[in-house]
Amino acid sequence: MPAPSLAPRMSRFQPSPSQIATARARELEGQGRSIVKLTAGEPDFPTPRHVKQAVLDAMETNNTKYTPINGTVAMREAVCAKFARENGLTYTPDQITVGAGTKQILFNCLMASVGQGDEVIVPAPYWTSYPDIVKIAGGTPVAVACGQNQAFKMRPEQLEEAITPATKWLILSAPNNPSGATYTADELRAFAAVLARHPQVWVLTDDIYEHLIFDGREFFTIAQVAPEMYDRTITCNGVSKAYSMTGWRVGYAGGPKEMIAAMSKMQSQSTAGVSSIGQAAAVAALNGPQAFIKERTANLQYRRDILLDYLNAAKGLSCDRPEGAMYIFCSCAGAIGKRAPNGKIIETDGDFTNYLLDSVGVAVVLGEAYGLSPYFRASFVAPEEDLHKGGKLIQQACAALQ
Ligand code: PLP
Repeated sequence: MPAPSLAPRMSRFQPSPSQIATARARELEGQGRSIVKLTAGEPDFPTPRHVKQAVLDAMETNNTKYTPINGTVAMREAVCAKFARENGLTYTPDQITVGAGTKQILFNCLMASVGQGDEVIVPAPYWTSYPDIVKIAGGTPVAVACGQNQAFKMRPEQLEEAITPATKWLILSAPNNPSGATYTADELRAFAAVLARHPQVWVLTDDIYEHLIFDGREFFTIAQVAPEMYDRTITCNGVSKAYSMTGWRVGYAGGPKEMIAAMSKMQSQSTAGVSSIGQAAAVAALNGPQAFIKERTANLQYRRDILLDYLNAAKGLSCDRPEGAMYIFCSCAGAIGKRAPNGKIIETDGDFTNYLLDSVGVAVVLGEAYGLSPYFRASFVAPEEDLHKGGKLIQQACAALQ
């Protein structure tokens, strides 16, 4: 029986490139090759013990039924307390919505508000899902190139230039996936100053990497440092990265009531309320001890430096020290135009990442997927020995290019 023909929207977006890279690496492993995977998009720490205990308690007390679409009361209260404690932001529970991961929150927001003719500004490099979700919603993503020469950060004048009467949202995310770039309070205020001239533009800020920030930097979010933006900002976050709880699938957002209600309405006809157990876990994480996050971040920072030193010593590669997140976004401009030992010329970052995988068995993700070339993303969430092994193999592969 042939499958039904697919809807036109299915050809407007791509599956996740890091998942493709991981799948390709697994395929090669299946053929007996040893592959060093520098593709992980999640921290490798366990779910904290007190969170696991809270989930056991939730199950024992039969907290296992349908939940309200916008989140349990306990969860929304925990989120309000988090925003107040960590970000100086005041939200009431009716300004909060809870989704199955930050990804669903972003999806709800863009699906609820973006349609044909609407533009969404996405600084590049970007997390690949942003433009894809905009396209699914029928809108047009407008990428703003922010290269290594500007520390992968958008400049206020670039924002001004990208805004048109059709602009509906600016998506901000810092620490950034894939570059790790962060914004200071003043840099965010400079964006707010531009947006003051364009009151139709709202900000969707994805703060998922808030706690994965290095070298003593402080995290800021736009509604906090530019209170005039509070009424047109959706502040998103989740438990995936901070608490290493990617599999529990809990994300949340705070914002103006009507927009939050529209996001919940969108969710009501897809997944409905988030798993009761997942929310019990998230409540325990948000209300529980927080000190372990700093220790985990220090461990990530240590691993960042191991991989960074190898990459920067490789011929033709150059990378800045990421300020946060879990990835190095490394320029491979010096490898472009070079000839591999098999005679093939490296023309794109995709050629380069394929070359690394095929020649030395190291999996990373091509920069093109994040809207900026020629770069690649290497995750430093890997066992230390893999960082050493992968780093040496990358150096070896680069040295072999002519
Ligand atoms: N936002 C960014 C920038 C991400 O990199 C990711 C996951 O990689 C997500 C959101 C997804 O988060 P969640 O697990 O909460 O859906």
